[in-house]
Amino acid sequence: MKGPGEAARAGFETRAIHVGQGPDPTTGAVVPPVSFATTFAQDAVGHHRGYEYARSGNPTRAALEECLADLEGAARGLAFASGLAAEDAVLRTLRPGDHVIFPHDAYGGTFRLIDKVWGPAGIGHTPVDMSATGGIDGLRRAWLDSTRLVWVETPSNPLLSVVDIAAVSAEAHSRGAVVVVDNTFATPYLQQPLELGADIVVHSATKYLGGHSDVVGGFLAVADTDLGDRLAFFQNAVGGVPGPMDCYLVLRGVKTLAIRMDRHCANASAVAGLLESHPAVSRVHYPGLRSHPGHDVAVRQMRGFGGMVSFVLAAGERAALEVARSTSVFTLAESLGAVESLIEHPHRMTHASTAGSALQVDPGLIRLSVGIETVGDLLDDLERALDRAQRLS
Ligand code: PLP
Repeated sequence: MKGPGEAARAGFETRAIHVGQGPDPTTGAVVPPVSFATTFAQDAVGHHRGYEYARSGNPTRAALEECLADLEGAARGLAFASGLAAEDAVLRTLRPGDHVIFPHDAYGGTFRLIDKVWGPAGIGHTPVDMSATGGIDGLRRAWLDSTRLVWVETPSNPLLSVVDIAAVSAEAHSRGAVVVVDNTFATPYLQQPLELGADIVVHSATKYLGGHSDVVGGFLAVADTDLGDRLAFFQNAVGGVPGPMDCYLVLRGVKTLAIRMDRHCANASAVAGLLESHPAVSRVHYPGLRSHPGHDVAVRQMRGFGGMVSFVLAAGERAALEVARSTSVFTLAESLGAVESLIEHPHRMTHASTAGSALQVDPGLIRLSVGIETVGDLLDDLERALDRAQRLS
């Protein structure tokens, strides 16, 4: 399946399996070959067959870029060595003196990149609650004449706050800024930021897109071809590109994205229900719960509520650490978005880089990446761990 017209007629699952993916014209292979060549023969000086040197382009990467761009409804897709390498390319479009508005509860690595890498290079930043709680007013208050970029993460990591992409995009565009949405938690199956008005989608492909905890990768999907060309320049000039095997693994993961996400959503919803009813838990963050402040926006802009859940233990950090070490089906580990369930303590693990800043997370917070195992096993495992924490308090 090659042509965009043909692709547009097909459903998400069909496109995830076929767009950009053969069969290979020379051998008939039904999956794209992993092309390890670093350089490509040229027919004459300046005449090549689409590929010259593998940092600039590689057939396996091209297959991934074509497929994921299509799934995000993008004019251009660009694969990177990691989510942060993809984010870094976006920030390179700014000039010293420019200002970024970004989420008050952004992923810690995003905050570190904006604050510690791009801050000293002259990029200003303001963390803003753009979620249902803070809304557009927060965005307006933080706006500076130099604001060029609005960074949205929805649902956010680790607080699962939900931002109205269409409303933020309309406001930012009316003031001439570019809107970036980190779609890592939702994936293109659950949420289509470009259709809602965003300019750039960023992914940590390490998470749901890869889906099996065996590859680190990043991705940008861009609505406008000129902006796509600028970002492609940085992809090649800086060189934070993924290897062919990594591209293949992400592409293989994407084939099953839709069915995995359906199960992630169903399991996470059951887990959120259990947490909401357990006395050891004082607060549950899951956009599928009616009690979630962003629930209505999530219903409007998402097909499902995703596989990530976080919650606060009533008895604070000691209880949170007890839960984190007591589960057995949920593995205590960083990262998220794969078939196996993971549990972590953001304050000491994934979000340790936010310590002492406005983004610091509650030490009583636990984050779950709910996998696709048998749901009863997940509920039993968590209930046992919560009961232990409850006995501590
Ligand atoms: N965005 C979000 C929401 C993330 O959770 C992560 C990593 O956890 C990243 C971006 C960074 O991606 P990577 O670890 O692939 O560089």
